[in-house]
Amino acid sequence: MAVIRDVMPAFDLLQPNSVAEARNLLEQHGRDAWVLAGGLDSFDWLKDRIKKPRTVIDLSGVEELRGVRTTGNGIEIGAMTTLTEVGQHAIIKEKYSLLAEASSVVASPQIRNQGTIGGNVSQDTRCWYYRSGWPCYRAGGNICYADTPEGRNREHAILHADRCVAVNPSDTAPALIALDAQFVISTRKGERVVDAEDYFIGPDIDITRLHILQPGDLLTAIRIPSAWAGTKFYFEKVRDRNVWDFPLLNVASAMVILGGNIERIRIAVNAAAARPLRLKTVENAVRGMPPNAATGEMAGKLAVHGAVPLQFNAYKVPLMRNLVKRAIGGVEEATWAF
Ligand SMILES: Cc1cc2nc3c(=O)[nH]c(=O)nc-3n(C[C@H](O)[C@H](O)[C@H](O)COP(=O)(O)OP(=O)(O)OC[C@H]3O[C@@H](n4cnc5c(N)ncnc54)[C@H](O)[C@@H]3O)c2cc1C
Ligand code: SF4
Repeated sequence: MAVIRDVMPAFDLLQPNSVAEARNLLEQHGRDAWVLAGGLDSFDWLKDRIKKPRTVIDLSGVEELRGVRTTGNGIEIGAMTTLTEVGQHAIIKEKYSLLAEASSVVASPQIRNQGTIGGNVSQDTRCWYYRSGWPCYRAGGNICYADTPEGRNREHAILHADRCVAVNPSDTAPALIALDAQFVISTRKGERVVDAEDYFIGPDIDITRLHILQPGDLLTAIRIPSAWAGTKFYFEKVRDRNVWDFPLLNVASAMVILGGNIERIRIAVNAAAARPLRLKTVENAVRGMPPNAATGEMAGKLAVHGAVPLQFNAYKVPLMRNLVKRAIGGVEEATWAF
């Protein structure tokens, strides 16, 4: 169980100044090393003595991991760029405002000043039991405390559960999937680039992680192609309080309208499952249709097909249906056209 303390435990703190140095340290320390970005997720685990790494590799001195650069085909965001920088960057606000909006509703200004985009997409789940050190499936045990008649599961999954019913809590993840971003990973074997939607995994693949990073891997950057720049975006997050709160659900979409109909669309939701879900069935069903209330209604129903609510989270089914409905039908009134 968690031992909640204000004091950090002892560990070796290593502070590389370059990606190459960080790579060397990761090679040397492998499974004993914890990668530290802004610390908003990390510090809880360390102070509560639930994760006990011998070595912490602090990326705060690696300048090459910071900042937003334009590329021949869009932009590249360093993994250590803060959420505030992402939310306020001129090019992101102008061309990829979906991501600016998603970044700007994460937690509070203080957390966004410290938390990084790399950390936001790599953060762990907030399931109470797991974060308190209960020996559940995700922690290596053989029970899910949340999926019981008395379990506190109001925030948990309605789709794709497999033993564990925890959800991915990132606000930026669905926006990055909708923008067709790619994640750049430095591994022992060299650089690996994966589509945003493939970065995240469910308990059916690995119940101990929400993403594909293996010990020793480093997320270095996120690339956003220009293909969806300046298209029609929709982002909505529903939370209990408008400050400091994780999403109960969020939705992000990017859409191109031609001749009054949806020509291209990408749409994703998060906090409905252990990984952010790209809604391909919805995308296929609404292509060629007008972005109006009737299409939104149909899309919302499709999105929640197969949902299995738990004891205390049935509200998430109509909530998700309505978020998807608004993401698609909510553009009906808009005066713009492509
Ligand atoms: C009170 C509170 C409220 C919050 N509310 C929200 C919210 O509303 N929406 C939301 O999306 N998030 C929310 N968060 C989560 C917060 O945004 C994330 O914890 C934060 O973004 C993590 O980023 P970080 O830079 O602090 O990463 P860290 O905490 O340092 O790292 C997080 C995880 O990612 C790994 N990691 C980080 N960077 C890399 C990298 N480059 N390569 C490999 N591994 C890496 C770390 O090892 C660690 O496991 C909240 C957090 C708190 C404490
Ligand atoms: S939902 Fe997942 S993390 Fe939470 S108690 Fe169940 S197995 Fe553990």
